Amino acid sequence: MVNESTSAVPDKIRCDACPVMCYIKPGAAGACDRYANHDGKLVRVDPHVILERTVSQGGKLVPFNRSEDWDGRIVQGPSTFVTAIGAGTTYPDYKPAPFIVSSEVDGVDMVTVVTEGIFSYCGVKVKIDTDRYLGPETATVRAQGEAVGHVTTSEYGSQMLSLGGVHHLTGGSKKEGRVTCDTLMDLSNCKPVEFTIDGGATVVVQAGQPPIVNGVKEERMRVGCGSATIGMFARQWHDRVDEVVVVDDHITGVLSEHQAGKLLGIPETGIRMKGRRSTPGRYFKVAEPGTSWGGTNITDPLTILDPFDSEVAWPGLRLLMVSTTGDHHAYFELDESLTPVEKELPFDLRESVMRIKENCEPALCTVLFMGGAGGSLRAGVTENPVKLTHSVRDALTRVTCGGAPVYVWPGGGITIMVDVGRMPENAFGYVPTPALVAPIEFTMKLADYAALGGYMDHVRPLASINRDEDGRKHLAASAKNPWPLATGKGEK
Ligand code: SF4
Repeated sequence: MVNESTSAVPDKIRCDACPVMCYIKPGAAGACDRYANHDGKLVRVDPHVILERTVSQGGKLVPFNRSEDWDGRIVQGPSTFVTAIGAGTTYPDYKPAPFIVSSEVDGVDMVTVVTEGIFSYCGVKVKIDTDRYLGPETATVRAQGEAVGHVTTSEYGSQMLSLGGVHHLTGGSKKEGRVTCDTLMDLSNCKPVEFTIDGGATVVVQAGQPPIVNGVKEERMRVGCGSATIGMFARQWHDRVDEVVVVDDHITGVLSEHQAGKLLGIPETGIRMKGRRSTPGRYFKVAEPGTSWGGTNITDPLTILDPFDSEVAWPGLRLLMVSTTGDHHAYFELDESLTPVEKELPFDLRESVMRIKENCEPALCTVLFMGGAGGSLRAGVTENPVKLTHSVRDALTRVTCGGAPVYVWPGGGITIMVDVGRMPENAFGYVPTPALVAPIEFTMKLADYAALGGYMDHVRPLASINRDEDGRKHLAASAKNPWPLATGKGEK
């Protein structure tokens, strides 16, 4: 795709799509590999992605390989959506966005403003489904030895990383900025990245894939905390075992003391736990965090028990200890001296351990790209950028990234989050300033676009986009996503 706004010097042409302003030799690409000098013209190297609505989304099926009954010239009706992937960037953005495309949807004139935004203020939030300990909260996360982010507060069954951001992109050494940019781009393009965490583990993260912690692929996320696990499975343990301890780094559960055990009439067992008792049957800090039983550092579960109370416990008492994923379990019976002796897990308890595993979901990594559509990017949409912000806030303008829905943060600005797993592949690029390049589309009624000061003289009909032009790539829209041009009036 040819970029009109270039300036030439002998043999070389100058790209002005970002602040680097590369001079590019004939046959060569610029520093970001996104633009190249092709026979003296500046071209966008990657294909421009156009989504085709699938039948399940209410669209007419158009095969990738271009069906025989397709006329081969124009983009078809509202079953196509022009994304910003490969669309190009205008810099500085007082210039109109590369594509401002109108179409009629449900009898309403709509417009989609399309640009590849350059995001200096961006990062990713990573959710890693594991209760294995990755590192202390706020610990530095490193890629290739460089600081690229930190461990943030964990969520239910998942560890969370906050990576990138302007501090690492621009506030450290040149290498730190480059590695951070590479890391963000790889993660956002669903490629694997290995991290080391200060005082913690090594983890390989890839969107949509299980995490690999210290070389071990995680299979399942926990069913719940130790207390929740007691509540969920108490009835299945009743009468089959006298005591159950569900080992968890956060809240370890004890059946006989827990409210669930009380309601089932399970008698006291004289068990004594290490750690800090929170409420009946719920214990904090029974061990140190780690990558073993229930996200603790223990390999022998008996290390979290003190001797049983001899006034209450009895020889032959049956004790099951299990982790929150069911990955670890051990069965004991007390001998005459009330010492637990490990025995084979009885058949009728195996089912309950299997049930814990069965109720665990597959462990995955999820990567959310987060960025702020800044003043310059918004100026490519309208001459009065704050009106775009207000329009997004008032839900008059829909924001998508490569056709995928985004979450817009409340408050000032246009700060978005998008699940990179819902976007077409290789949707992200970079420029060496360093900053990430991410596709962003703004869709609204044509009348609203005019009202917010849009570049009406640059609006072009969808039918004017020549789908046969070199550098266009047609993809079936993901069935996971709502159709980005849907109005809600008969459209999905
Ligand atoms: S880094 Fe890329 S976008 Fe920026 S000027 Fe060079 S070729 Fe153009």
